[in-house]
Amino acid sequence: MRIAAAAAAAGRDAAGVRLLAVSKTWPADSVREAAAAGQRAFGENYVQEGVAKVEALAGLGLEWHFIGPLQSNKTRLVANHFAWVHSIDRLKIAERLSEQRDVHLPPLEVCIQVNVSGEASKGGVAPADAEALAMAVAALPRLRLRGLMAIPEPTADVALQRARFASLRGLRDRLNAAGLALDTLSMGMSDDLEAAIAEGATMVRVGTAIFGARA
Ligand SMILES: *Cc1c(COP(=O)(O)O)cnc(C)c1O
Repeated sequence: MRIAAAAAAAGRDAAGVRLLAVSKTWPADSVREAAAAGQRAFGENYVQEGVAKVEALAGLGLEWHFIGPLQSNKTRLVANHFAWVHSIDRLKIAERLSEQRDVHLPPLEVCIQVNVSGEASKGGVAPADAEALAMAVAALPRLRLRGLMAIPEPTADVALQRARFASLRGLRDRLNAAGLALDTLSMGMSDDLEAAIAEGATMVRVGTAIFGARA
C-alpha cells in the first residue's frame, strides 16, 4: 500500500516497483507465511542463514536475493543458491561468482552496491570507481549486470534521502549513456522507501515494515 501510494505521488506506475521482502533473522515459517500471502522475492543478508532458508523452502518457487556483505570464501554458496546478488562492490567477488555459478543455472542477476553517502564504515564502491567496476562486471560470463544498489545513511531528512537516491539514479543514467543497459535501482527500505520511489527505485528492500522489528 505504501508502494502504491508513493508511486502514485511520483506519477509512476506501481508495477514498476518490485517489493523485495527482507527476511533476515526471521525463520523459514515467516517466509512461508509471506509466500502464502503472495510475496515471491525474498532478501537475505547472511550466507549460512540464507542458504538454510533457500534449501528449506526449495519447493515454493521463491526468488532469493543476497543483499549482505559478501566475503570471497562464501561466494560459492551464494553463486548457486541465489537468483540475485545486490552487494557486488569489488571485481574479485564478481569474478568468483562468475566462475562458480553453475552452468546449468540461468545467469546470476547482479547489482553493484555504491556507497552514495561516503561513510567509511559502509560497503559499496565509491561513486567515482563505479563505472570501471560496472564495465568489468558487465563483461563477465554467467552474470547479468542489472543495476545499482545503495544503502544511504539513515536520516529523517527527506531532502537528504532524496538527494542520495537521486545520485544513484544519476550514476545509473551515466552508465547507460556509456553503453550499459541497467534497468534496476535497488534502493529504499522501511524508513525511506517513499523517497526512493520518488527518485526512481525499481526495487525496494523492506524488512521491518513487513515482518516487524528484528530482535
Ligand atoms: C536489513 C536490510 C534491509 C531492510 O531494512 P528494514 O529497515 O528492516 O526495511 C534492506 N536492505 C539491506 C541491505 C538490509 O541489510
